[in-house]
Amino acid sequence: MSAKSASAFSRLVERAREIALLDSINATLQWDQQTGMPPAAAEYRAEQIAWLAARSHALWTAPEVEEWLADAEASPDLSATDRGNLAVWQWSHRRAVCLPGRLVEKLARVSARAHEIWVEARRQNDFAAFAPSLEQLLALAREQADCWGYEAEPYDAHLEGYEPGLRAETLEKLFGGLAETATALAVAGEAAPPIPDLREFAPFPLEGQKKLNAMVAEAFGYDLAAGRIDESAHPFCTTLGPQDIRLTTRYDEADFTDSLFSVLHEAGHGIYEQNLPESAFGTPAGSALYLGLHESQSRLWENHIGRSRSFWEAWFPTMGEIFPQLRRTNPEQLWRHVNRIRRSFIRVEADEVTYDLHIVLRFRLERALFAGDLSVRDLPHAWQEGFAQLFGLTVPDDRRGCLQDVHWSGASFGYFPTYSLGNLRAAQIFQTARRALPNLEENLLRRDYQPLTGWLTKNLYRAGSILPPEEILQKLTGVTTSVTPYLEYLREKTGEWT
Ligand code: ZN
Repeated sequence: MSAKSASAFSRLVERAREIALLDSINATLQWDQQTGMPPAAAEYRAEQIAWLAARSHALWTAPEVEEWLADAEASPDLSATDRGNLAVWQWSHRRAVCLPGRLVEKLARVSARAHEIWVEARRQNDFAAFAPSLEQLLALAREQADCWGYEAEPYDAHLEGYEPGLRAETLEKLFGGLAETATALAVAGEAAPPIPDLREFAPFPLEGQKKLNAMVAEAFGYDLAAGRIDESAHPFCTTLGPQDIRLTTRYDEADFTDSLFSVLHEAGHGIYEQNLPESAFGTPAGSALYLGLHESQSRLWENHIGRSRSFWEAWFPTMGEIFPQLRRTNPEQLWRHVNRIRRSFIRVEADEVTYDLHIVLRFRLERALFAGDLSVRDLPHAWQEGFAQLFGLTVPDDRRGCLQDVHWSGASFGYFPTYSLGNLRAAQIFQTARRALPNLEENLLRRDYQPLTGWLTKNLYRAGSILPPEEILQKLTGVTTSVTPYLEYLREKTGEWT
């Protein structure tokens, strides 16, 4: 290795670690903002967060980084890991530098304002009030796409930001097969015999919920010595350092499964982060960068474990100790409770079977908006039509229709599909794990999650992000993202009670 390219590469590592320092400090401020910050602190906190984000962006887009990338690239003898890191850096650097400063600034300004307008428009059920902001955001997002570049369609340029190589055409093929089956399963699933409402057994005191949630997360492999579980309006998982991965949840005394499932979901993200190669923290080799893969881990623990029969059988005695009133029911009833199917209007309240239908709708509308096949003005009507087709239901108003999600007001386009990608990949990865671990079912009944966590750590978490997501998945499961294991899983599950 020439001295110049060797030092170029080590400078990149140094710069990446410096940026990780700034970003983790920023994450700490944001965690505090969501969990305990006094309301009057909001304005100054926004300034702190914006300042750190700008510093971090400036460090990565500085002219010397481009030189280091080129010098390192010319080096003939980088290791495979170094090459992987370099490829990801080139991808992220290219995306960061090609946006002109005035576009970045304008987007930040317009979306901050659009968020406030959206909150009010949703409250008032007034799409017309939000439409001009959405039009403006879309125009700016198309400008972004032009800067980033794309081959087939501008929407692809946004998808690419969440996962390199992600394309709308591929997604439509996956989602097309998924939607038809999910609609049929939802209709069949609704015909299942009714179950008693868990709320009849309420209240479930918060102290008991906290105790149960921590026990389960820890049993799964979430390390509470390098993490903690707090309360926030919207549950999330965040990384404040290699030994500090935090979760949040929210509590409802009437139904303990709300906070439990948020913890299982976020713990899935947390276990992934806690088991990345620590010595590579701040570089792609020590990061989990791809959203659809990250979501596969939250869904795996939340759904394939948490919504399984064996989970409810295994934990029922402990649940009965913590909430004695549950002894009047049984694991079967609780399992049915957390798996009930109901077609409904709100994505975040959707069950496992109908959830992806919400995503398919949003994906198709976003794609049409970017292609110019759909105007913002016609969005409510297109939403109603698409919803009727996928769900067979009439949307009563825009508040429960195209105004329900926060994403578009923040100019996050292309984010929704990563949720369903996570569902597909969770099924695919879990199916592979079951084949690799023949005693898995017995282990799960004994609450012994170590073999599964160990297998995931060895085969997925330690891999970091130096390969593109589809390559990581292919190495792990033998194929790229496939809809088949997920459909098999849904069919098997819904078939158990219909
Ligand atoms: Zn998630």
